[in-house]
Amino acid sequence: MDSSSFYRDTWVEIDLDCIYQNVANMKSYLPNRVEVMAVVKANAYGHGDVEVAKTALEAGATYLAVAFLDEAISLRRGGIEAPILVLGASRPSDVVVAAENNIALTVFNKEWLAEAQQLYKGNKSVLFHLKLDTGMGRLGVKDKAELLSILEAIDHYPYFELEGVFTHFATADEIDTSYFEEQYHSFLQMLEWMPLKPKMIHCGNSATGLRFPDMVFNAVRLGIGMYGMTPSLEIKDQLPYELHEAFSFHSRLVHVKQIAKGEKVSYGATFTADEDMWVGTVPVGYADGWIRKLQDTYVLVEGERCQIIGRVCMDQFMVRLPRKIPTGTKVTLIGGQNDEYIHVDDIAKSLDTINYEITCTISFRVPRIFLKNKSIIEVRNPLLKQ
Ligand SMILES: *Cc1c(COP(=O)(O)O)cnc(C)c1O
Repeated sequence: MDSSSFYRDTWVEIDLDCIYQNVANMKSYLPNRVEVMAVVKANAYGHGDVEVAKTALEAGATYLAVAFLDEAISLRRGGIEAPILVLGASRPSDVVVAAENNIALTVFNKEWLAEAQQLYKGNKSVLFHLKLDTGMGRLGVKDKAELLSILEAIDHYPYFELEGVFTHFATADEIDTSYFEEQYHSFLQMLEWMPLKPKMIHCGNSATGLRFPDMVFNAVRLGIGMYGMTPSLEIKDQLPYELHEAFSFHSRLVHVKQIAKGEKVSYGATFTADEDMWVGTVPVGYADGWIRKLQDTYVLVEGERCQIIGRVCMDQFMVRLPRKIPTGTKVTLIGGQNDEYIHVDDIAKSLDTINYEITCTISFRVPRIFLKNKSIIEVRNPLLKQ
């Protein structure tokens, strides 16, 4: 690592071996010939898009998926040549850029398609996956006549090619499978409407792949499970193999001082020392995604849980230390120290949300360090990017 990669001792570690293992496990768990489409939207759920994509491909994924065209282009600029699908809505005019970059787009209504056909003057073929709305109520076609007119329009236009058809489940991560089954049956029914099926049919996210590997058709769109996190706490005990959490978050004490009983800490002076105590300052704040609601939760210092006291500031927060601890000592916000571990799910619980939101929220002001075989292979700090 270049020592000038970053100048603040605060970093996220991404263990690429965990990503590799999670993808390889899914691949071998799925029936033969079912492919893994690695979902690397939102900068790979806050982990780092290109690095995760490369690792997933090495581990057996054959396709990548993102939410937006910009994210797909970011992967191409990072040297990724594998097929990429944009799951979300693009502008009809962006078909041109998609074609240039060999990126597959989602078609989800007939007006969109008609406009795209009008605007496309190129002569390279563009791949599409048709999104069916079976009950998520987000993107997708519901109506038989519309579906048939989309198929016909694609069929009659020489440069557009339908590579896939897919849907998305709203409750695949819930114990109660009744709504999931309803959606599944709608999907089967809508597939019946299609006289010719495209090459790829896919309906499963991580939860579906983990729980119903025989119901996913040709590919699983693997997101959260690839990062080693459970799709929901409800199904955590039912996972078919162990997930390896790739994300950890660390900093170091930059100032350690003793305060006397009655002294205050941070904005609003909301914390008052109930006795003489040692306080450490940690250079992480809400601008890093460590939001103000995390006041009173814990971090690890020398393997011990230490409470965040007073308000979290934009760039710093304070912790109560059990004793005088040297400046420079490592602080773990997510991850392990000795036998103690703070999981992403622990932070999610404190904030009354889901693990997905936590890793996405840790901003890219925090450099990502990528590890392979316990060694650093790359550091990504967008702030100091050339
Ligand atoms: C984000 C997303 C996924 C991945 O879901 P996970 O629960 O993270 O596996 C799959 N499909 C679509 C359409 C998505 O938007």
